[in-house]
Amino acid sequence: MELQPIFNKDILGNQPFIIAGPCSAETERQTLDTACRLAENGIRLFRAGIWKPRTKPGCFEGIGTEGLKWLQKVKQQTGMLVSTEVATPQHVRQALDYGLDFIWIGARTTSNPFAVQEIADSLAGHDIPVLVKNPISPDIALWTGAIERLYNAGIKRLGAIHRGFTSYNRHLYRNTPYWEIPIELKMQMPQLTMICDPSHIGGKRELVADLCIQAMELRFNGLIIESHINPDEAWSDAGQQITPDELKYIISHITEKNSKTVDKDINSLRTQIDECDEALVELLAKRMQLAKEIGAFKKHNNMSVLQQDRYNEILKKRMAQAENLSLDKDFIKKIFQTIHTASVNEQIKLK
Ligand code: PEP
Ligand code: MN
Repeated sequence: MELQPIFNKDILGNQPFIIAGPCSAETERQTLDTACRLAENGIRLFRAGIWKPRTKPGCFEGIGTEGLKWLQKVKQQTGMLVSTEVATPQHVRQALDYGLDFIWIGARTTSNPFAVQEIADSLAGHDIPVLVKNPISPDIALWTGAIERLYNAGIKRLGAIHRGFTSYNRHLYRNTPYWEIPIELKMQMPQLTMICDPSHIGGKRELVADLCIQAMELRFNGLIIESHINPDEAWSDAGQQITPDELKYIISHITEKNSKTVDKDINSLRTQIDECDEALVELLAKRMQLAKEIGAFKKHNNMSVLQQDRYNEILKKRMAQAENLSLDKDFIKKIFQTIHTASVNEQIKLK
């Protein structure tokens, strides 16, 4: 794959670049007011959803074609490059007709290869940067597949937007980051421009700043951040949007941190360690739940809590696995002894 940079350095100046704008273009006033304030705060790349793929019917589904005129005005009045999300060949045609500078494909669309192929076909022969959001499920092949479909249609200015993945057990984030997936994507496609979307990962405005910092630590090339002139009144994603002035404040801290950070590599590894630890604790909770169910079964069937043969079997299997993975067998044995004791204690409580 031979990719090109998505944006010209002369236009953008220093890395990292920031794309900002409201989740949705709602009215001409809201779009222009947001854009002007962002431009005053140094933003050069504007986003606004015109066609909104909403999970449930009855929500605001976007202003439609009319909003493209507002994006043109944003471009005329501020000089920013403007973009929107496309989900069908008709959207692509209109985005091209109205001279948008770049477009993105949303997470729900990336999940559907037929839709991506139709978009790719409609883009053939056009040179416009396309940013591909990750699919909603943590499936890297769907993501790379979408990027390949666009590349095969002749699009060379390609970027990926990491916006997190749907998970059944939502905790802190609206969409779980699983940072290892964009990291793996960058390994598979080293020339790809990587952009992080902290707004859709976090889902809450108070998480945006930390996620921006994490993304910078993980060496994303840019950020796409939802910003609205009056976030609390937004017609979509109100809880995660920030004002243009809040955005300016966050960016100033990112820059400051970048220049102060001496060793970014160690921070990047620590972020990955935190992700591993979070996943470990979640798995332990799941395992404990299963142990409790087994405990109830044993009680019901008058079985003793300790089943020595099963315990020996667990230890044997995990130590063999440890050996295969070049892990210290004693270390793994100690961990499983501790886990097993905790499970036994829970089961005894049920007796
Ligand atoms: C958006 O960017 O407003 C959007 C709908 O995002 P996603 O496709 O990531 O849900
Ligand atoms: Mn949104």
